[in-house]
Amino acid sequence: MDYNSFLKRDYKSLVDMPGQRRALHLSRLHVILVAAGALVIGTLLALASDDAAATRGQLTVNGIAPASLPAAVPTDEGRLRLPLALPELPVSAAPPAAAPRAAEPAADWQESRIRRGDTLSSIFKRLGLAQGAIHELVRLGKPARVLRRLQPGQTLRVRHDGERLLELVIRESDLESVRFYQVDGQFHVQRVVRELERRVAFGAGTIESSLFESGIAAGLSNALIMELAGIFGWDIDFVLDIRKGDQFRLLYEEQYLDGRKVADGPILAAEFTNRGKTWRAIRYTYADGRSDYYDPSGLSMRKAFLRTPVDFTRISSRFGKRKHPVLNRMRTHKGVDYAARAGTPIRAAGDGKIVFRGRKGGYGRTIIIQHGARYSTLYAHMSRYHKRARKGRYVKQGQVIGYVGSSGLATGPHLHYEFRVNGVHRNPLTVRLPNARPIARSRKDNFLAHAQRVMAQLDMYTETQLASLRR
Ligand SMILES: [Zn+2]
Repeated sequence: MDYNSFLKRDYKSLVDMPGQRRALHLSRLHVILVAAGALVIGTLLALASDDAAATRGQLTVNGIAPASLPAAVPTDEGRLRLPLALPELPVSAAPPAAAPRAAEPAADWQESRIRRGDTLSSIFKRLGLAQGAIHELVRLGKPARVLRRLQPGQTLRVRHDGERLLELVIRESDLESVRFYQVDGQFHVQRVVRELERRVAFGAGTIESSLFESGIAAGLSNALIMELAGIFGWDIDFVLDIRKGDQFRLLYEEQYLDGRKVADGPILAAEFTNRGKTWRAIRYTYADGRSDYYDPSGLSMRKAFLRTPVDFTRISSRFGKRKHPVLNRMRTHKGVDYAARAGTPIRAAGDGKIVFRGRKGGYGRTIIIQHGARYSTLYAHMSRYHKRARKGRYVKQGQVIGYVGSSGLATGPHLHYEFRVNGVHRNPLTVRLPNARPIARSRKDNFLAHAQRVMAQLDMYTETQLASLRR
């Protein structure tokens, strides 16, 4: 099952739904509001994290040449953080003009792109610099190792006085560079890490035919639409349950570098109304960096188990009595068979510990995972195991443990999947799945306050959008 193409599918092709064609089409009227971005980013990011101050401190302004960074703050990892500045221009307007370059006269700086086979010595020669400084540079601390592994495509900028080197910056990527500079005639080195500038954006839409189409009309990227479907996908079947008139709205992050959008996500908060029922989800990030989505009361949006642990093409055998295709006699089928191409990854249905990995008679290559005291899952007929899936190891929900095959008694490549509750086989397709853990008790008050604020922001954006439509 290709989830992406499922989302793109028009719900009318699956469900016969005569309907009015002229419902309010909010998505067309969508606007991204960033005028209040500074305020919102500050509040949201601060609230979304256990470690508010640190998160805020990490935000950086972009478009400033590394050479002009004397005011930047070194951090505990010996890295450099640039100070925070927030955009003033709305996203929908022209992108902000490039930030001013370094204060030094431009003529002092020379730039060279590193070519295949270049050494520092050959580059210095090309730029007309004396070779003497090289010796000193390569002996500096760890970040100076970049000089020994110059990569074609990286750029190197030098500030110099005649043939005397004053400063050298090697740009490894858009975000990382290494800077050599002088203090009292002595060279020093530091790694400069620029961080993406994060802005908050708002999107909303009403579904006409599919989530995908309305999402695109609302200005959302494919990745963001998938993320939205992923958050609510535990409760809403985006193929069968979607109806014309369903609505969504969300706050999400956009990441910018030099005024150019380079990525979007994660979603900070979202709401989805399906057939009159509304679901809300709020992202919460713990101090260790782990993030999850919870409803406004702190319950997890996820279930403790995936409904299907493999991307399958069809269900080739259901749970219950059947004639065994190989043994040719009546037997109870204790699981579900998912036909899939050999080699398709099989995922752990939930967090747990691998208690068995090996050949198991007709099951062929098999893994059994124990999930707490009550639940266990079994995966059979694998072609091979994932190398990290060993007996005794802990696995996370969604982690690949092996690959589809036809080992043991199997007529073709498929995953045989079993779900046990207190040792009793249950139908994986219909068993009621427990929710994943709610918000940690110690974070609950913090989360509830955050949830209230973020939902208020969502309402504020919606109001602003509606007001702009009335005008
Ligand atoms: Zn089976």
